[in-house]
Amino acid sequence: KPLRRVLAMAGTGQNGTKESITKLISDLNSAKMESDVDVVVAPPFIYIDQVKSSLTDRIEISAQNSWVSKGGAFTGEISVEQLKDIGCKWVILGHSERRHVIGEDNQFIGKKAGYALSQGVGVIACIGELLEEREAGKTFDVCYQQLKAYADAVPSWDNIVIAYEPVWAIGTGVVATPAQAQEVHVAVRDWLKNNVSAEVASKTRIIYGGSVNGGNCAELAKQKDIDGFLVGGASLKGPEFATIVNSVT
Ligand code: PEP
Repeated sequence: KPLRRVLAMAGTGQNGTKESITKLISDLNSAKMESDVDVVVAPPFIYIDQVKSSLTDRIEISAQNSWVSKGGAFTGEISVEQLKDIGCKWVILGHSERRHVIGEDNQFIGKKAGYALSQGVGVIACIGELLEEREAGKTFDVCYQQLKAYADAVPSWDNIVIAYEPVWAIGTGVVATPAQAQEVHVAVRDWLKNNVSAEVASKTRIIYGGSVNGGNCAELAKQKDIDGFLVGGASLKGPEFATIVNSVT
């Protein structure tokens, strides 16, 4: 992966309390992490300040969502401007729970990505198919439509990481096989080559998410087009997350 620095990301969903997050921060601060891996954590909004003020600067911070345009009278939403103010360098957009539970569509997610990037916040752009879409042979089509919505809305690809997260693998314990993940990562890279540019295709990091753990990360990380991981459940355990981080070098 000569052109691409690898990246490991912890997305903790709605998990955590002040106490458990304090413990996680302390485990992450003392974990040994290889220097050639970018590491990012994405706590719930309300804990970002706590994490920012006590986590080592070696680890960057992401939000799990952001508002679609300039912040204003949108009660209950968090703006990109606020994320920047509190020290977030990244935001996860298009997570399957936002798509399939909350009902955000491709265009809305693309617009969010465009706005965050325009403000200098990097985007972890999630894509991925449902089980029934995979079974119907639609995996590539679904991923391409999701990619197109990002491509139509973003000003540049400099600050985007694509996270391929098959929905059937998220939080289920059913991890994609290395071959299944690699197949989609290659297809995504080819799509970027054909629809954006060869340069963006070779530079953009494509990370895998969905039931990654300390036991299965090494085989996945060996795949040529897997540039890192987005980790949910296993990131709640600091030492296991450190194992995953160190597997992607
Ligand atoms: C996720 O929530 O995006 C995720 C990948 O979770 P898990 O690692 O638990 O499957």
